[in-house]
Amino acid sequence: MIESARGAAVNWAGNLTYGAREVLRPRTLDEAADLVASAAKPKALGSRHSFNTVADTPGGTHLDLSALAPVFSLDAAARTVTVSASARYGDLVTRLDASGFALENLASLPHITVAGSVATGTHGSGERHQGLASAVSSLTLLTADGTVLSLSRGDADFAGAVVGVGALGVVTSLTLDVVPTFSMRQDVYDNLPWTSALTHFDEIQAAGYSVSLFTNWARDVVDQVWLKNVVAPSAPSSPGDAISGPSGAGPTEIPASLFGAVPADGPRHPAHTAGVPAGNTTPQLGEPGPWYDRLPHFRLGFTPSVGAELQTEYFVPRSAAPAAFEALRALGHRIAPLLLVSEIRTIAADDLWLSPAHGRDSVALHFTWLPRQPEVEALLPTLEAALAPFAPRPHWGKLFHGEALALDYPRLADFRTLATRLDPTGKFRNPFLDRHVFGG
Ligand SMILES: Cc1cc2nc3c(=O)[nH]c(=O)nc-3n(C[C@H](O)[C@H](O)[C@H](O)COP(=O)(O)OP(=O)(O)OC[C@H]3O[C@@H](n4cnc5c(N)ncnc54)[C@H](O)[C@@H]3O)c2cc1C
Repeated sequence: MIESARGAAVNWAGNLTYGAREVLRPRTLDEAADLVASAAKPKALGSRHSFNTVADTPGGTHLDLSALAPVFSLDAAARTVTVSASARYGDLVTRLDASGFALENLASLPHITVAGSVATGTHGSGERHQGLASAVSSLTLLTADGTVLSLSRGDADFAGAVVGVGALGVVTSLTLDVVPTFSMRQDVYDNLPWTSALTHFDEIQAAGYSVSLFTNWARDVVDQVWLKNVVAPSAPSSPGDAISGPSGAGPTEIPASLFGAVPADGPRHPAHTAGVPAGNTTPQLGEPGPWYDRLPHFRLGFTPSVGAELQTEYFVPRSAAPAAFEALRALGHRIAPLLLVSEIRTIAADDLWLSPAHGRDSVALHFTWLPRQPEVEALLPTLEAALAPFAPRPHWGKLFHGEALALDYPRLADFRTLATRLDPTGKFRNPFLDRHVFGG
């Protein structure tokens, strides 16, 4: 039996009404396979947190997989967990933790589905950590004719299929690498002088398991630096005390001053200028807690980020970070009036064909915009032109213009070949993919 919820679905930000004719909720994998095989333009929908039309299927059929029997299968010996594609990270992390395991990294919010996040190359922060898709060791998907295809790390097409931008089929489950559970602390510093951020960027990145810088590009300081660090089981918890990194990374000091930035005297919200209370953020001030309640900035059950907003993000090579910062600071007077906050994060290189961090250690330049889409879209070509010397790659789930962006993915031709093989009639393609992936 298939439930049908007819009517238009809207994305999380409310800036997009999808053009799908219907949203169908298969209750079994067989129903899902039949649907994929029979629908003219099927497309899986996650938690709808993307800001652009990557998840749209104009006139087609959206598949909401949340009515399928949930999958959660931990293999402690292999250190993997297999989960439903529609599982939200926030739903699986506590169960995983209760079993003594953790995911190596998480995004800024736990509200998003595993399949949707992986499909768009979603990431957290930390120079030693790859994007969330790199934790995938195998996945099962329904291809265009409803055939079940399982791919595992090492298979010829695997590295092409993980960041699939919804173009290859409907993923039904994914197996993720896990690590032993760990505790973390989160410390925020205020007012890092930009001169220090530019000079000491590498040391600041090395100061945390996960590091985020929040700025509006127009001030002389980076407003906030968020450091997330692993706490040794017996470590004391006040700022300045010794802590340990994961996997024998060794002790680290939480400094009393971070290159001129000072420890925050209370909890902070990244978009503090928007007047959003810090209550929807995860605990700070060095309070130890579980990994899943420190790695994301925002708590499940609360509105993440600001709510009324748009987002854009570009990945440039880590080595270009200072020059890219200067390029954006030169545009600070144009960016700041439209901005709620910008976040700077680092991501380790991976080998996934359409991952924005493919083949290069990256710095991600993120913009949380006011919900003024025409003005934001008018500014994006200027931003992209300023970043063009650094071969920026846009986040697949956020707003970008794209005209000035070279599709700098060495395996793009292989991805197109794979997509055409798995989906010969282009069932899963949409105008976004035609324009930005297939070059139509
Ligand atoms: C407040 C906020 C904070 C964010 N923070 C971060 C962050 O810290 N880091 C970051 O990198 N991004 C971040 N994002 C972006 C977000 O992670 C991506 O947009 C992600 O794709 C959202 O997942 P979703 O489940 O909502 O997917 P959707 O937006 O629903 O779908 C995205 C794509 O995945 C495909 N898809 C979904 N499910 C399946 C499936 N089962 N099989 C095949 N394809 C599927 C869809 O077809 C579509 O192409 C943030 C977004 C918001 C709104």
